Amino acid sequence: MILPQHFSEGAEARLSALADKYPTPFLALDLSVIQERYGELESGFPLADIFYAVKANPADKVIELLAEAGSSFDIASPQELDKVLKYGVEPERMSYGNTIKKCSAIKYFFEKGVRLFATDSEADLKNIAEYAPGSDVYIRVLTDGSEGADWPLSRKFGCNPEMAIELAVLARDLGLNPYGVSFHVGSQQRDIDVWDGAIAKVKVIYERLQEEYGIRLEMINMGGGFPAMYLQKTNEFSTYAQEISRFLKEDFGEDLPRIILEPGRSLVGDAGVIVSEIVLISRKSSTALERWVYTDVGMFNGLIETLGEAIKYPIGTSKSGPEEEVILAGPTCDSLDIMYEQHKYELPLALEIGDYIYWYSTGAYTTSYSSIEFNGFPPLEYHIL
Ligand SMILES: *Cc1c(COP(=O)(O)O)cnc(C)c1O
Repeated sequence: MILPQHFSEGAEARLSALADKYPTPFLALDLSVIQERYGELESGFPLADIFYAVKANPADKVIELLAEAGSSFDIASPQELDKVLKYGVEPERMSYGNTIKKCSAIKYFFEKGVRLFATDSEADLKNIAEYAPGSDVYIRVLTDGSEGADWPLSRKFGCNPEMAIELAVLARDLGLNPYGVSFHVGSQQRDIDVWDGAIAKVKVIYERLQEEYGIRLEMINMGGGFPAMYLQKTNEFSTYAQEISRFLKEDFGEDLPRIILEPGRSLVGDAGVIVSEIVLISRKSSTALERWVYTDVGMFNGLIETLGEAIKYPIGTSKSGPEEEVILAGPTCDSLDIMYEQHKYELPLALEIGDYIYWYSTGAYTTSYSSIEFNGFPPLEYHIL
């Protein structure tokens, strides 16, 4: 058995066929897993609108599937916009969720019909007013995303609540529609209570805008953060859905605003498996206890989220028998290209050069993060399983 149970029937045989046909490394994607996760999101949050964060995996097949399933899209650049437009998605189903944008990009989104923009600064808000007049804007607030998240998105995005209030007022004065507030609790967020704090913060902004300025916001964008299945345990998705719905109810009662979710990792992560080949196995001295196992996939062609060993992917091999600790590294001439050294993975002693190593739950942030020709290695390919 090399594939986890959540893959569709016959996936293992299809994976073998792909491995026979294509050179490694490659990502194999099981679209039925994405379909299933999308269904779970819909049933966990029946009142929410799902905006898939395209950056997590921009594969055409993924966008096509989600477009057909009725998803909306959180888009960060004109290039991503073009890609999603190709699948006939109406501009009402898109948001420009990046708070860092050029005027030319704002203009482009507006021309294509997008009317929903994120912001977290005065300069950006003024640009939106100029190049996307009359649009809906939502203000992103800072969250303490470094707590509990394996891949935090803190500090760089969002503003403090006081500034969020000022920006909403300014938006109105500039002829825009102050539509809502957004946050992102950090990616692979394992502490569900972090949503509680973020929602409470939003509630204060809502009340103050209403009471002090007569501005009634209509939407909360709760970003992403739901987990994929890596080594570190997480709660079931259903627990996330229950708890977060309870937090919303506690703060907003029956008067719930429109809720937007922007899942990336949790939708596509578990749908992927990277098939890689062992290029070299060595020891640094004749008495060294650890083997170095170098694979043809590494930091620069798909596994950058192992930086700081933040994301710990489950790993499998085609061999069995007694196991021993290894250091796992990639194929390039850069010493950053070591995936796991602190965390001791144990792999079979029987492993040989040329054997496969499987990296599970690698459907998110792998192909999109891959460099284009470091050391001449091509970007990570993907194939549909
Ligand atoms: C990256 C990103 C997401 C997706 O986050 P995940 O943790 O992968 O679900 C959602 N919203 C915004 C604004 C993002 O930048």
